[in-house]
Amino acid sequence: MKVIIEERLIKTVLEAAKKVYPKEILFLLRGKKKGEEIRVKELILPPKVIFGEGFASFSHYDLPIDLSIVGSIHSHPSPSNKPSTEDLNNMYGLFMIIVRYPFDDLKDLKAYDREGRELKLEII
Ligand SMILES: [Zn+2]
Repeated sequence: MKVIIEERLIKTVLEAAKKVYPKEILFLLRGKKKGEEIRVKELILPPKVIFGEGFASFSHYDLPIDLSIVGSIHSHPSPSNKPSTEDLNNMYGLFMIIVRYPFDDLKDLKAYDREGRELKLEII
């Protein structure tokens, strides 16, 4: 499985991540899966999102059932972009992208599937 996302969307996330640091930011990703490729089309700020220190969470009950949401992206205020157990347990959609501190480099992003395996990430 491969995730394709536009650079301008990533830049928006990096800017937001810098703004809320040391808290984490989380966006849902809307897009389309075609075969083994998932193409992200837009970012959605989830309703009632809570930005915490060490976590970013939102209530799944507040979300509309929306099958166009394919995954999520969130920031880590640390130099690690590995998913935590909480990340994997609370995953929404097919994949997640994690952006690590200091949110400057596109290489600081990694995508994972539900089992925590790294996915190919193509930034266009
Ligand atoms: Zn995390």
